[in-house]
Amino acid sequence: MSDDINPFESLQSQIDDAAAYLDVGDDVIERLKHPERVLETNLTVERDDGDLERFTAFRSQFNGDRGPYKGGIRYHPQVSRDEVKALSGWMTYKTAIVDIPLGGGKGGIAVDPDDYSEAELERLTRSFAKELRPLIGEDRDVPAPDVNTGQREMNWIKDTYESLENTTEPGVITGKALDSGGSEGRVEATGRSTVIAAREAFDYLDKDIENATVAVQGYGNAGWIAAKLIDEMGATVVAASDSSGGIYNADGFDPVAAKDHKNETGSVVGYEESDAELTNEEVLTLDVDLLIPAALENAIDADLAEDVAADIIVEAANGPLTPKADEVLEEKDVFVIPDILANAGGVTVSYFEWVQNRQRFSWAEERVNEELETVIVDAFDALVETYETHDLENPRTAAYVVAIQRVADAFAEAGSWP
Ligand code: GLU
Repeated sequence: MSDDINPFESLQSQIDDAAAYLDVGDDVIERLKHPERVLETNLTVERDDGDLERFTAFRSQFNGDRGPYKGGIRYHPQVSRDEVKALSGWMTYKTAIVDIPLGGGKGGIAVDPDDYSEAELERLTRSFAKELRPLIGEDRDVPAPDVNTGQREMNWIKDTYESLENTTEPGVITGKALDSGGSEGRVEATGRSTVIAAREAFDYLDKDIENATVAVQGYGNAGWIAAKLIDEMGATVVAASDSSGGIYNADGFDPVAAKDHKNETGSVVGYEESDAELTNEEVLTLDVDLLIPAALENAIDADLAEDVAADIIVEAANGPLTPKADEVLEEKDVFVIPDILANAGGVTVSYFEWVQNRQRFSWAEERVNEELETVIVDAFDALVETYETHDLENPRTAAYVVAIQRVADAFAEAGSWP
């Protein structure tokens, strides 16, 4: 990619763009561009054949001014120190734009989980949990799922932590299975906030979401649920892709059946309702009303952005547009709802899970979804107010103006010590 830049540099440039509109000193902005601390650890794990293997893992605690560090743990070969730092910064501004009392963190292990057995992944996960133990806790740092991790890994981390601490503390981690203290609605939450944000954006632009055509890049938890929910809203999902390629049907297809096909075969490719096979890049540049990038960072660089034909982009992934792509899309008047708002449903329902864990009381799914709706709509309204007041060109900058101000206010109120 021509501008496949380091995601940590992307984060810092997004902060700089917003800082120009904020009455926050450069010294404080400098603080808000760097993590407070980063754990880098080497895990030695026994393979099923008895050999040992070393894995590098990270946990970045970016900012705790508004509450305990919060953010997922991903398993991916591309995991690096700078990627984790960037993702932990995005978490900080995500919890701030949706105004939940949490900070930002992120972790990851550089590993391709497909290459390991379940028993090996359990040993790897428990080994990481042991290293994380001094850093995490329900009032300290609360991990969650991210790319290639889910309820299974969260349950292992909870069990390891609770065993070592000789306690029960379900709020030490979120995204757990229901029987282990998870919340109703958590699995769907990222996709749900993505479509709420899309609906609000269409409404704001006086466009009709019911007649919209939609392309979804990435068909994991966030992408496929967003496809399912936007289809239920009446929009037409015409294209979807995963790491093996994409599918297309001009009349739309059933997003749930496409997911079933992926579950059976490992990919959406080959799904019977598809009329044509597309590459990921073709999906990202389709002429649709709404594009939902739902895979990894840097999916759209400046070159590809030139070919993007969607009117609205709602980012279900973290960091899918490079800053240069953002500039190109701004020139082209593409309305982009940023990741820190669009995909914030995941961490918002994580927050609800944490609240329920602390209260030892479970909410019904209806309550979870209603409260989520309120949080995302309020955040969208705050973004729009700042977008209009400052006459901004890019909704992402508006989101950062709101979020950075909130973190800076919390820091100012607490004061600096020592
Ligand atoms: N990994 C998700 C994200 O990037 C969720 C984090 C959480 O629930 O803490 O927002």
